[in-house]
Amino acid sequence: MLTLNDTVSLQDAITSYHYSQSLTEYIRRKTITVKIGDIPLGSEYPIRVQSMTTVDTMNTEGSIEQVIRMVESGCEYVRITAPSVKEAQNLENIRKGLRARGYTVPLIADIHFTPNAAELAARIVEKVRINPGNYADKKRFELIDYTEDEYQRELDRIREKFIPLLKICKEYGTAMRIGTNHGSLSDRIMSRYGDSPLGMVESALEFLRICEEFNYYDVVLSMKSSNPLVMVEAYRLLVNRLDAEGLKPYPLHLGVTEAGEGEDGRIKSAVGIGTLLEDGLGDTVRVSLTEDPEFEAPVAVALIGRYTNRAVETTPIRPITASPIHPFQYSRRKTKEVFNFGGGNVPRVIADLSAIEVTQYEDLRSVGHFYLPVPDKWKMNDIGVDFIYTGARPSTFMLPMGLKEIVDYEVWKTATNQEHQFPLFTLAEFEQATERSTTLNFIKIDAATQLTQEQIAGVPVVLLLQTDNAHAMPALRRFMVDLIDKGMDCPVVIQRTYSTENSDELSLFAATDCGGLLVDGLGDGIMLSAQYAAEVDNEERLKYAKQQNSIAFGILQAGRTRMSKTEYISCPSCGRTLFDLQETTALIRKRTDHLKGVKIGIMGCIVNGPGEMADADYGYVGIGKDKIALYRGQQVVKKSVVANNAVDELINIIKEDGKWFEPEAIEL
Ligand code: SF4
Repeated sequence: MLTLNDTVSLQDAITSYHYSQSLTEYIRRKTITVKIGDIPLGSEYPIRVQSMTTVDTMNTEGSIEQVIRMVESGCEYVRITAPSVKEAQNLENIRKGLRARGYTVPLIADIHFTPNAAELAARIVEKVRINPGNYADKKRFELIDYTEDEYQRELDRIREKFIPLLKICKEYGTAMRIGTNHGSLSDRIMSRYGDSPLGMVESALEFLRICEEFNYYDVVLSMKSSNPLVMVEAYRLLVNRLDAEGLKPYPLHLGVTEAGEGEDGRIKSAVGIGTLLEDGLGDTVRVSLTEDPEFEAPVAVALIGRYTNRAVETTPIRPITASPIHPFQYSRRKTKEVFNFGGGNVPRVIADLSAIEVTQYEDLRSVGHFYLPVPDKWKMNDIGVDFIYTGARPSTFMLPMGLKEIVDYEVWKTATNQEHQFPLFTLAEFEQATERSTTLNFIKIDAATQLTQEQIAGVPVVLLLQTDNAHAMPALRRFMVDLIDKGMDCPVVIQRTYSTENSDELSLFAATDCGGLLVDGLGDGIMLSAQYAAEVDNEERLKYAKQQNSIAFGILQAGRTRMSKTEYISCPSCGRTLFDLQETTALIRKRTDHLKGVKIGIMGCIVNGPGEMADADYGYVGIGKDKIALYRGQQVVKKSVVANNAVDELINIIKEDGKWFEPEAIEL
């Protein structure tokens, strides 16, 4: 009998770390073509963009209008929820209405718990999405000791429910996504594989094996989670398991669920989706933001756009034949502690102010340090930087205690206050220098350099790693793999420079480049730099530095390496949503965004909400008109609260747990 102690471990399941054709060259994973209406999906075609409506599916005209707005914003497929047979039936009216207005966009029915709605929708639309965690199962949050026979009986039960849908899809030429969500794994999967990427993968494979048995191959797969690390590991493991089992290379639909809104939502999405795109994985992208769906497609388009010419723009990178990084299980690269970098320290943030005049206390507000004349003290907010790099123009005043300064070596060597500043060398300067800091030295290093231990031996060094290679993340990763292979344990700060023209691109690209490394446990800090046009004045540059700082901390938070803000896991909303998600999220954020590190789930419905916010400390879930259920972790603590009182009640629960404190009276 298989007991809970015998749950299948990752090490039992995998025989190799393979998941990408190349860790150094951009090669898109070869996948089969899946026909979805007139827009085929797979590696023979461009990476597709899609999103999901938020209007009630029974609102035919509203749905049509929204689908059109989504198509105009860049969506190539549109998903619509079908919670029951009546909504599934109404997909026909929506489809007809769109066709009548000249829109042939393929529609996808989103199904949870209702095989009969799926079977109807599969006759109407181009694709159905099923969630393997709840297609044939209702979650009871039970851990069960299955015997082999009992487990097999469970699989037989799935077959019975799933085969009718398969047959309809085959008959009607309808495609299918088997879309696993981390938050809604079945009790069966949880009992045997745990709440893990392996469980997510197996959840989809149980259904996929049945598809192949029936020679049905129009399948797309996804492995979503609100935690980008879990999501990345699950997709990589999926590719590995497909190859290991000899299953077909099905196209991948990439997405981070419940990413939230605004900058945080974009950063979280980019850390997850961008990391996979860098390694050539992904055939279609859906960005889930708690915003109107027409704002999601442009984010997906920007993420995907970086790879159109990537293969030809890349400067060759030395191949990695055997990577020392475990791609399916997070572990941080072991480094020695140098000053407050590496070792057990959180990754540090360095603000690059080298192209900005820092002449007054006020200038440091942009990087989270605030001087208060009364009571003559410095304060710092949750995203106060650890270091500023001022290059050749050091600050003209004494910095607050919590903030350190890095200057160019040429400036440092003649400085009178060397103990308050740390030098930044080029490698050549470092090797020739007669004087170095006894505490902390930075060396600017290009990722193509093959550094040896001898070059930095005996000196407290932190590397500031940069690259001009268009295939940046893999180039930076290559350098760090080299350090690991050589047993070199000096901390490394990731430094990236972006143009100031497009702020959305700054957050998306920085999150992809730095986040992709953090996901693999690489990087002991971030420094984001800017290329300013000459006409950009100092005030504008300070504003930009503020934005960079917020993005740097956001990336560390999304990479789960340094929590500096409240984490909101808010669903993107759909036709099931029971309250105005954007308004409610804004309200909850207003009252709680000083609760650093606390994770709050805000979910539009009880059907999927509790599962989807599996990662949250507290949950706010719609259960009916003006009725909210409040959760502590996975437990409902208030079953039916009137919406008007729900935020107060949520705060009361946080207070009961001793996790509440009043926001600072001073506006920082
Ligand atoms: S949790 Fe949100 S997005 Fe998911 S089904 Fe419910 S309302 Fe829709």
